[in-house]
Amino acid sequence: MIIVIRKDATDKQIEHVKKFAADKGFKVHESRGEEVTILGLIGDERKLDKQQIEALPGVDKVMRVLKPYRLASREFRKEDTIIDINGVKIGGKEVFVIAGPCSVESEKQIITIANSVKKCGAKMLRGGAFKPRSSPYSFQGLGEEGLRMLAKARKLTGLPIVTEVLDVNEVEIVAKYADILQIGTRNMQNYRLLKAIGKTKKPVLLKRGFSATLEEFLMSAEYIMAEGNHNVILCERGIRTFNTYTRNTLDLAIVPVLKKLTHLPVVVDPSHGTGKHELVEPMSYAGITAGADGLIIECHTEPENSVSDADQTINPETLSRIIKGVRKVAAAIGRR
Ligand code: PEP
Ligand code: MN
Repeated sequence: MIIVIRKDATDKQIEHVKKFAADKGFKVHESRGEEVTILGLIGDERKLDKQQIEALPGVDKVMRVLKPYRLASREFRKEDTIIDINGVKIGGKEVFVIAGPCSVESEKQIITIANSVKKCGAKMLRGGAFKPRSSPYSFQGLGEEGLRMLAKARKLTGLPIVTEVLDVNEVEIVAKYADILQIGTRNMQNYRLLKAIGKTKKPVLLKRGFSATLEEFLMSAEYIMAEGNHNVILCERGIRTFNTYTRNTLDLAIVPVLKKLTHLPVVVDPSHGTGKHELVEPMSYAGITAGADGLIIECHTEPENSVSDADQTINPETLSRIIKGVRKVAAAIGRR
């Protein structure tokens, strides 16, 4: 951490800042220039509250030199994290597609779709049983009954299942059924939930908050990892911007940045990222080209009858074409 001292600071104030840091266990290196005085603190600055230092009399500004996240960083782990889910490798050379409806609607619906997405080449099944809806009057999901239906679809197809957990109280029950726990965009900064998920050993698909910065996103991953669960998959699902022609703005530039800064697998969600079914195919190819390890796509055998997110849901025919296209794109960039 670097502390820049105000030009008008008194010696007494500077000594106080130095003592404050030393008392917290930091070595202080002072550099007095003609214009500015700088204090360099040596020690783990993550344990220090930047704002506390900034509030000390005589301090102009404080700069961190370390990244605030540690476990999620490339410095902590050089090689890519690969998460194995019943033989499906997430984060390796091979890219993968997770597909399924926005919501589990009935046993027949989820089983039909599971069979269909499997035939198209999807490696995992998605489907929400606990749904975070913008309106309290909209369909809220089938709850545990939906989880049982997902488990049945897994049993019949062998596809691992990805499903959302909304609340700390439901972690145990969702973890009992799911292969991957999804944390939705609205819960990315629900720190209690992140901690609870961190205590399970279940792989987690962490969706980026729709107004989260890159650093906030990685700090949420850090919350889960700090509790001992290192099986975190990062998901870019679009952010809020001024633009209104798509539901969200799919921030594809974050994909190579995440791949550089972290060792965690990265997934792109072109469905929520655009909100438009006709944009899912081109954005799927763009996501893989940007370096994503996989895609999560909303697919329904009757998209127009989908109880949630109908306008961004594609049919199996389109999914099949996308998966074929993804294979070609992956091959072109040296992946499988
Ligand atoms: C979903 O995947 O169905 C979902 C609700 O996603 P998000 O949290 O990204 O909106
Ligand atoms: Mn959805």
